[in-house]
Amino acid sequence: RYFKRIEKVEGKVESYITLTKEEALKKAKEVDEKLAKGEELGDLAGIPVAVKDNIVTEGVKTTCGSKMLENFVPPYDATVTKKLKDEDAIILGKTNLDEFAMGSSTENSAFKTTKNPWDLSRVPGGSSGGSAAAVVSDEAVYALGSSTGGSIRQPAAFCGIVGLKPTYGLVSRYGLVAFASSLDQIGPMTKDVEDCAIVLNNIAGYDKMDSTSVNREKVDYTKALKEGVKGLKIALPKEYFDDRIDSRVKDKIYDAVKVLEGLGAEVSEVSLPHSEYALSTYYIIAPAEASSNLARFDGVRYGYRTENYNSIDELFIKTRSEGFGEEVKRRIMVGTYCLSSGYYDAYYKRAQKVRTLIKKDFEDVFKKYDVIISPTTPTLPFKIGEKKEDPISMYLSDILTVSINLAGVPALSMPCGYIDGLPVGMQIIGKAFDESTILKTAYAYE
Ligand code: GLN
Repeated sequence: RYFKRIEKVEGKVESYITLTKEEALKKAKEVDEKLAKGEELGDLAGIPVAVKDNIVTEGVKTTCGSKMLENFVPPYDATVTKKLKDEDAIILGKTNLDEFAMGSSTENSAFKTTKNPWDLSRVPGGSSGGSAAAVVSDEAVYALGSSTGGSIRQPAAFCGIVGLKPTYGLVSRYGLVAFASSLDQIGPMTKDVEDCAIVLNNIAGYDKMDSTSVNREKVDYTKALKEGVKGLKIALPKEYFDDRIDSRVKDKIYDAVKVLEGLGAEVSEVSLPHSEYALSTYYIIAPAEASSNLARFDGVRYGYRTENYNSIDELFIKTRSEGFGEEVKRRIMVGTYCLSSGYYDAYYKRAQKVRTLIKKDFEDVFKKYDVIISPTTPTLPFKIGEKKEDPISMYLSDILTVSINLAGVPALSMPCGYIDGLPVGMQIIGKAFDESTILKTAYAYE
């Protein structure tokens, strides 16, 4: 049924890079047989899922939306891919993204531009735009995305679905092609809050293959869902409601907060004083780490290799010039510059110090409050082509999400109304490893 649906809408939406129909039908049959034999089924049994194409899948092409990996077939599964398979999920295919997850519109994919299903002339957000579009157009029941600075929440907001960026270290990054390793996290993109909790249950957990994975007691995220928000302390950071944010978007968030207040939550205004530095800090740290992570794509080990070259230097230069797109090259250049001797102290080291201050802002607020609420994005979904030639204006669509990745805390985006037929996203931010409180707040509002 899902492949029929995909056949019907994919020509317009273009969510997927690769469809894995044969493997999916085989798995579906396996699940059927298990069921017939009365064998125990996994938690996600038979439910069709889409996986962002920067998460490796054994034997199935994983391109990262890049010409560099156009024909790359990984010999192993990411930990999350394996977990999905172990729980009998049915993987329908791999979804489109901005090249190496760098972008906010999915226009940086080397292969196609995914459309926003609410208005095909608009972007679905990014970088997990393919995953978000697939979920809202029902080309999958749910999807996995990845976030370095907002790539789960921003497309979730633009497409009107639920997206969660878990606490750094909660979900294994093993097999997620690294963009900025100290910021990257994989998370669920779902149609509702309960699905989000169920998927998180199945992908979270310690993994010895990821040295930053945290070993903690397992939590059942569905448990707290129905606890309600009576007495819950909600903070609204004034910096997240300033005049850079579309007032129509802000009004929707205030309306949603009123609903929570009506359910017994207590709401106060707070300050996250270092917010103004978040974007510049992010756009030093993320490119710096990216420039290092992407050094492995040299035309020798795997991926694209240029055809004609006379020396090893020429092989590197031509391979990388031809294999990477504009935005990726821009990040490699910025990152290399920030890390170079002479500039390291002025940029990278200073950015790391400011990152600590941003993290402390959150710690201070969470001494008194349970969750922080804000809009997810400063604007409604923008038009395809509107920001593509202007990287700075594209970067600005992340002003409300990047701090959360810098601080390592979890945050969810959920739909909270529509303006002119376009969805608005509300961001709920929580304490480290306190996804349960975020989810119960979201569930109460939903
Ligand atoms: N849009 C941001 C960037 O371009 C965040 C991307 C992400 O979270 N992967 O870096």
